Amino acid sequence: MAKPSQKTACLGPNAILQTIEVLDKNVGRNLRTVVLLQAGVEVPPPNAGMLPETDCAAVHDALRTLLPARAEGLLHDSGLATGDYLLRHRFPGAAKAALRLLPRPLAARVLARAIARNAWTFAGSGGFEVTGTEPLTFKVTGNPLIKGARADRPICHWHAAVFERLFTQLVWPNARVIETACAASGAPCCCFEVHPVAVAWPQDAGTRRAA
Ligand SMILES: [Zn+2]
Repeated sequence: MAKPSQKTACLGPNAILQTIEVLDKNVGRNLRTVVLLQAGVEVPPPNAGMLPETDCAAVHDALRTLLPARAEGLLHDSGLATGDYLLRHRFPGAAKAALRLLPRPLAARVLARAIARNAWTFAGSGGFEVTGTEPLTFKVTGNPLIKGARADRPICHWHAAVFERLFTQLVWPNARVIETACAASGAPCCCFEVHPVAVAWPQDAGTRRAA
């Protein structure tokens, strides 16, 4: 259940709003309502501003708990939809055009910097850092969306999909983002690698699209 936080660390509303849309589309409104009940979170208005990160985490946790077999695919789709929203509303057309004209390695660095500047919207109270360039690697410490979660493999599918959508649309059309380490499975932080072309998915992650 969501609990009020002492501090008001927040995330962008898409962590919940896009997840609701994906749930409505894929499992129906009734089951979506159950997920929000389990989370103890009410449906935010469509024009919601930043939302408490504890609410966002509670919704993602409830989804993972109630729909374990479909959670990866659903959170992935929510992340892609969030990326689409950002591309529509947060990247001016001229910036998108300029990024697409730059040499790819330079475009990747510029986009990584833009992501880092806006990390507060998706990392909340956590930290974000670009830690490598070949492959481009992001580190999220204290990822609020998985606080308290435990899993035997990486579960930050929403974050990976947000990054992936931005990179496929602005830098490398076939880019794949892989979470190579996850705090939920005991790593000190969550690490995401951006690969310009598709690489083999670790373990059984490739099954998510069948969900
Ligand atoms: Zn993670």
